[in-house]
Order: sequence, then structure tokens, then C-alpha cells
Amino acid sequence: MSRVALVKCREYDLEQVTQALVRALEPLGGLGQFVKPGQRVLLKINMLRPTPPETATTTHPVVAVALARMVRDLGAVPVIGDSCGGAKAYGQSERALEECGIAPLAREHGIETIVFETAGVERVKVENAAFLHEIVVSKAVLDADVVISVPKLKTHVETLITGAVKNMFGVMPGAYKLNLHRRAPGPVNLGHALLDIYKTVKPALCVMDGILAMEGSGPSWGKPKFVGALLASADGVALDHTAARLVGQDPTQVTTIAPAKERGIGENDTAAIEVVGDSIDELRPADFALTSNAVMRAAPNFLLNILNNHFFWVRPRWNQSGCELAGECEKVCPVDAITIANNRVTIDKKTCIQCTACYMVCPNDGILLKKSIIAKILSA
Ligand code: SF4
Repeated sequence: MSRVALVKCREYDLEQVTQALVRALEPLGGLGQFVKPGQRVLLKINMLRPTPPETATTTHPVVAVALARMVRDLGAVPVIGDSCGGAKAYGQSERALEECGIAPLAREHGIETIVFETAGVERVKVENAAFLHEIVVSKAVLDADVVISVPKLKTHVETLITGAVKNMFGVMPGAYKLNLHRRAPGPVNLGHALLDIYKTVKPALCVMDGILAMEGSGPSWGKPKFVGALLASADGVALDHTAARLVGQDPTQVTTIAPAKERGIGENDTAAIEVVGDSIDELRPADFALTSNAVMRAAPNFLLNILNNHFFWVRPRWNQSGCELAGECEKVCPVDAITIANNRVTIDKKTCIQCTACYMVCPNDGILLKKSIIAKILSA
């Protein structure tokens, strides 16, 4: 049996959100069940791209900072962080922290923030993987004593709902995330791959911002929709299941939820999920616009593979005419994919994780990014 707390919260007011969070966490044993004094606690927000909080694309700064203050009140050290999606995460994530309103509010309250691309990476083995036998994870995540997933309630054109499970996708830095679409084409495969990541970097607690949600063509191009709810659970799958029910989405169709129980990752049986706090029926928003993945589900894997290989990639390449051999790229590369010898820069394609750090630090035009069509659109 998994427990999910669902509480009404109608405004992004720091005190109101704090009170609602206390109410949500109380039936889970309180925040002290998950956080101990002295621990470094990473609040892994959803920071998909630089966009203001009113667009409902990213975790609202008030929710992140309210939770961070509660962590600090317990004598622990909170840090709020993420890595942008898309093809230009390095550099873009710093901008997103500002434009999403996270960094300004965190600064005001003396809370540390971190961009995952700047912390280095480690390769982590995935036990009993469905797709990803190894993933590259930011050290910002691995160095934390406790990880709390703080997702945004949104629709998702592939998985149908994006929540606590999908939120852990961001632990992989930069454009490496685009790799996933090539390695696990289609909604069902993608759901399994996201579960591989979630179970490997399993958050101790998940707290979802469902006050202003995103409906329609999420997670980027949907519309804001007021729901007025916060959700919390130690089981991210059960939390996403409850969030799906809240907005009228059949959880059995959500590809990050449906295979989870069979794989021993989380609870997805309605009868085995205890929802405490406020009533789902009372909080359910009228006319929430769902999305569909029917076309992608119907497409055969070989076709999706071809599409992904052509449309989802970004690669650095050496630009000899713009390079002054400053060596910054070699120093910044987190996986030692770059070597400089005999006045030439060589990038090992097999080792490169497409984080784009070399491109961002080059003081000249020594590294250019080759992008697929979709990557160009995402960058724009
Ligand atoms: S070469 Fe290194 S720094 Fe450049 S994108 Fe690849 S992994 Fe990142």
C-alpha cells in the first residue's frame, strides 16, 4: 500500500504554500521522516526551459523555496537545481534559473541553487534495466544525501502525464537527454527508460506543484490550467497515478505508470493507493484538456528509430578555422572526450555525451554544434 497526500492550495503565496506543504507532509510522518540535520538535500525541480512561471512549464519558485525553507528549518542544507531539456542545456540552464524565477526568490531567502551541467558527471549502472543499462548522472545529484523530486503537474505528448517519475530525466546533463529518444523510441519504450532512471536515482520524497498545471500539448506547448493542488508521496509512481486521476487521465494509459508495479518500482493499483487529505473529486478541474499519444503508439519501432536518428541529436564538432587552441574545451569536458594534440582538437564521438559544455566555454568559434532539425527548433 502506498500513501499519497493531496491538499488544496489556491495561491502561490509563500506562507499559504508552506502551510499546505506542512498539511500534505503530516500524514507521511512529516518532512523530518525524510530529512535529517546536516544532510545536503537536493530539490530536483522541473526546469524545462527559460520561461516565466505563469506559463506553467516549470516548478513554481514559491513551491521550491517554501520546501527548501522547511528543509533548512530542520537543520539540513537545501539546494535547488535542474538541467534544461532540449539541445542547448549548458548555459541555458543558468538563464532558466533566472527566468523561471527560481534564482531570484532563492537568493532572497538565502537558498543555494545549482545547474547540473556545471557539477561534473558520473556513469551509473542501472540494475535490472529495461532499456538503459548505464546512465550519465550529474554529480550535483549523486553528491546529495537526499533527493526530493519537485515536479510540475503537466500533460506530456508521449507519456501522457509528466510528474515525479519523468522529473528524474533531468538528472542527466545537457543534450545527453536527447539520446534517450534515440535509445528508447516511442511512448512505451520511453516510459520504461524513464523508470530505469527513476529507480536508479530514486528520490526519497516527491512533492508535486499542481496549483497551476499545464493542459493540452505538454510538457512545453500546453496551456496553463488552474488546479489548486499540491501532492506528496514517497512513491513517485503512486503520486503520478493520483495526479493522473485528478485531471481525468486514465493512469493505465500513462507509460511511466503502467509497467511500474510489474517491475517492482512503484504502486499503480488504485485499490493499493491510499489518498489522504482533500478529495480528488472535489479538486478535479472541469474540462482539463488531456493529450493523446495514439499516433506515436501506433508507429512501429523501426520507423521511430529512423525518425529519432534523423531528428533528435546535437553533436559538437571542431571548427579548425575558428580555433585558437585555447584548451578550454579539453578542460571542461566531463567525460574526457576531447584531446588536443599536434594542433588538432579531436572529439571522440563514442565517449561524448553531448552536454555541449565545450561549445559554451570556447572563447572563440573553435567548437560548433551540428544539430538535427528538431534540435534546431528546440534551440530556437
Ligand atoms: S565533447 Fe565533452 S564537453 Fe563537448 S559535448 Fe561532448 S561530452 Fe560535452
